[in-house]
Amino acid sequence: MLGRRSRQAPSILSATVRQYAQANPATATGSSAGSGSLAQTESGDAEEAGATERVVNLQLLERNLLESKLMDAASGTHRGDAAGLTIDPGIPLDELVVRVKRDYQQRFGRAPQWLAAAPGRVNLIGEHTDYNEGFVLPMAIERYVVVAAAEVTGAAGEAEVGLHSCLLNQSERCQVGASDFRKLAPWARYVYGVMVGCGEQGLAPPALEVLIDSTVPLGGGLSSSAALEVATATLLEAVTGKSLDPIRKALLCQKAEHHYAGMPCGIMDQFTSVLGQASHLLLLDCRSTEVQLVPLADPDVEVLIINTNVKHELTGSEYPLRRSQCETAARTMGVRSLRDASPALLAEFSASLDPVLQCRARHVIGEIERTEMAAQCLAAGQWARLGELMYASHASLRDDYEVSCQELDLLVELAQKHGAGGKVIGSRMTGGGFGGCTVSLVRKNHLEAVAAAIGTDYRQQTGIAPSLFTTRPAQGAQIVRG
Ligand code: ADP
Ligand code: MG
Repeated sequence: MLGRRSRQAPSILSATVRQYAQANPATATGSSAGSGSLAQTESGDAEEAGATERVVNLQLLERNLLESKLMDAASGTHRGDAAGLTIDPGIPLDELVVRVKRDYQQRFGRAPQWLAAAPGRVNLIGEHTDYNEGFVLPMAIERYVVVAAAEVTGAAGEAEVGLHSCLLNQSERCQVGASDFRKLAPWARYVYGVMVGCGEQGLAPPALEVLIDSTVPLGGGLSSSAALEVATATLLEAVTGKSLDPIRKALLCQKAEHHYAGMPCGIMDQFTSVLGQASHLLLLDCRSTEVQLVPLADPDVEVLIINTNVKHELTGSEYPLRRSQCETAARTMGVRSLRDASPALLAEFSASLDPVLQCRARHVIGEIERTEMAAQCLAAGQWARLGELMYASHASLRDDYEVSCQELDLLVELAQKHGAGGKVIGSRMTGGGFGGCTVSLVRKNHLEAVAAAIGTDYRQQTGIAPSLFTTRPAQGAQIVRG
């Protein structure tokens, strides 16, 4: 613990969350969110926040409410008394495909000609290392974006593409390569960017009507954005009958996110959505793009994902800021990226490197090492050591990289408390941070009890119902036939 950052105890929540809980009784616990619930006990904090932050928080509140509905829609969960206490079984891919075909028929009066699916991902360890050319250890999850399309014949001029997102209940139209993408809704820019990139690779689409549905929660750190991009690229492979080299495909999708969605993400998300393998994690070297498959086939170990159902990122600038801090730290130490730095090198620069940059670099250097060790532990079945690495990763993200939040910290603390005695192997935040999900490895015979205990305590202390689900490592993107 560095003591540099004045971290509040997990029992104190920010104004954002308090507002969220009060304005969203369906996700709070009604009267049980009363005494003892942080949702109501910390009402004095609002004065501490500046006026600007309050405005942003109100905007965030609206977004949280919308995303909460969307997360429910994606998971098919109906929030009630049991919300946040039970594990959501989710919707299998074949059922989602049936739903998409039905919705397509209803909306366009005919069956789709092509369908493609791409999974979200969860990262077991190796956070914020991908854009530092380090290692990550993700797996694809059994939550998917499915896209369906049919050709519009007789369309004049430029091929026009119609897009409809079932989750957002929004439609857009564009001409691939000829529209001003800034005029499109933000969600449509991901699709547009991928279509432009595919066009550059000789997979330009004809005029299409496209329908998009999904079971990946939006903005939850499970990479709905990459799933959307990769599903779109896979759809165009089906439409054009041409295939993309998998790595080129992942890079093309990453480029779309950089250029058209304005998010300078690393390669992990798109890579995992393309290359995911059933029963395996991917140890991905983000410098060489080499992948080693690491089996996760122990039937006694479950991957439990818990969504805090909050998102605190105020401006969206934190991620690019971390990225540029890492680049500055690497430059100062005279290395190409933090992949090439070591604890000893960092110590050499302790006098000349800004303290914040030292913390950022320490996280990345340590996390790259932890990730390689975690892959070895997983392969050797050294669960206790793997758990220690996961908890250490969380502490580093919280204290050195400062991308956690109180809700994520609370979930990890609860996993540690209720998982004592080996019931929970390890737990940490996953994804970019500031909300979203934790990932935990849990012993199968304790899964239900541990999940219920964490869910109950989290809901009681925050007034927010979490979403819980388990997943096996899933196969990457696929064209859906028949
Ligand atoms: P994450 O990738 O962690 O879910 P991001 O903020 O990177 O979070 O991406 C979420 C964005 O991706 C959404 O706000 C939306 O613009 C887009 N998106 C993802 N899935 C869909 C979908 N099914 N329909 C429309 N837009 C989607
Ligand atoms: Mg994303």
